[in-house]
Amino acid sequence: MNIIDQLSLTAQKHPQKTAYVFQDSETTYLELEGMISKFASSLQQLGYRKGDHIALALGNSPYYVIALYGALRVGAVVIPVNPMYTPHELDYILKNGDVKGIITMDMLMEKFEAIANQLTDVKHYICCDTGSSRSFDDSSVANKMKSFTELIKAGSLGVETPQLRDSDTALILYTSGTTGKPKGAMLTHQNIYSNAKDTADYLTINGEDRVIAALPMFHVFCLTVSLNAPLMNGGTVLIMPKFSPQDVFKVASEQKATIFAGVPTMYNYLLQRAAEPTADFSRIRLCISGGSSMPVALLKNFEEAFNVRVSEGYGLSEAAPVTCFNPLDRPRKPGSIGQSILNVENKVMNEFGEEAETGEVGELAVCGPNVMKGYYKLQEETEMALRDGWLYTGDMARMDNEGYFYIVDRKKDMILVGGYNVYPREVEEVLYEHPGIAEAAVIGAPHPETGESVKCFVVTKDPALTEDVLLEFCKAHLAKYKVPSKIDFLDELPKNTTGKILRKSLRDKVNQ
Ligand code: AMP
Repeated sequence: MNIIDQLSLTAQKHPQKTAYVFQDSETTYLELEGMISKFASSLQQLGYRKGDHIALALGNSPYYVIALYGALRVGAVVIPVNPMYTPHELDYILKNGDVKGIITMDMLMEKFEAIANQLTDVKHYICCDTGSSRSFDDSSVANKMKSFTELIKAGSLGVETPQLRDSDTALILYTSGTTGKPKGAMLTHQNIYSNAKDTADYLTINGEDRVIAALPMFHVFCLTVSLNAPLMNGGTVLIMPKFSPQDVFKVASEQKATIFAGVPTMYNYLLQRAAEPTADFSRIRLCISGGSSMPVALLKNFEEAFNVRVSEGYGLSEAAPVTCFNPLDRPRKPGSIGQSILNVENKVMNEFGEEAETGEVGELAVCGPNVMKGYYKLQEETEMALRDGWLYTGDMARMDNEGYFYIVDRKKDMILVGGYNVYPREVEEVLYEHPGIAEAAVIGAPHPETGESVKCFVVTKDPALTEDVLLEFCKAHLAKYKVPSKIDFLDELPKNTTGKILRKSLRDKVNQ
């Protein structure tokens, strides 16, 4: 089975159920299936065949859903890209990814026009009309432009599409990687189908669920948890063009949402507005957190403020992405990413290449039907990441005696202070315990005597909070070598569009 055939089956079973809601307008499974088929038939008319690479540069919208599934239906390999990327960043991915067609929107065409001369392999720019008044008649890409809406209108139903095999590549996800160029993780149809199904089963995402999709759809967390999982089960996706706490509360109450999925920074923003009268999460049965570590204090305060269960999980692009989640039918443990989900195995490997003892910190490795087939055109990197059938995640973790895993930190984020290991997370957890802290991030800074020292960046809720007070607080809770040497106060922390804190930008700041 694959996600696209599964969607057709769901549409046959529940044609009149609402597949998604966007700006108060509802679309049924029958209508969605029709648009996907028509778009797929037009892609075939344009010459797209199984194995062709198509990039998606779109914001959260129905266009995204139709484009994604339509391209998958013709057997194309979809490369989702962040629409906020600069022309330079896009240029790298589009060339490295051997992209033949780009599905985007009028507002972004300027970026593609800037690099169009170099993208000689690109045959079409399929453009969604979002109401921009600009005409493209005299543009450098005018002869390659196609209207997304016209293609749907011109398409036909019941089109013959190729058979998709489990091992066929469905997506190439360029992972953010804090160093070097982004690498394209190749996910097969089996990877994305199995992970959506196993995650849905584990978290009981079902046909009655109404899931808020506020995470960016180009990110695999949103794709699997907020799109594929509900759609394969006949649930409803509540599409939000972007995240804002007010809009999440509005959608949650007006659309009777049952599930919210977000990264910890989103939970932080929501919590800061918990006292507002519109802050209503009373119908939400489950909040799903992933993408980066959820500070224990934030999790507990959020659950208390909204009277809702938060389940933290873990994943990475290379695993389509979910590997672990806190279970719903057993205790959830704050600070933990939970246990292995169905059909997926996790283990911790020590520095000698052996499985670590319970409680011992080592690199987390993952095995299962969700693990990628490799990095696109990068044999050496693939061999480093995939060893003996296991994906080495680059994350340091430990497991307790009940099989719950705890992410200690990224291997490369570990700070070495005079020979001692400091994991940024343990310092951040302490800072989040302080009532005056809104956000905190910790990195290593070069130090003449100890090699590295602990450097903190914080955003405070209390303007009177001083560095001395925070340092005293850290001294009371941390071993001496873990206490920060310096704390900088910022108005906000740099984040990527998924909401993850960009430690690299903080490191650059320090190096400058
Ligand atoms: P991406 O490939 O962009 O999804 O990023 C995956 C990375 O996010 C992982 O390798 C982890 O470093 C991090 N990550 C995801 N979930 C968690 C979590 N619950 N706790 C800590 N780190 C996480």
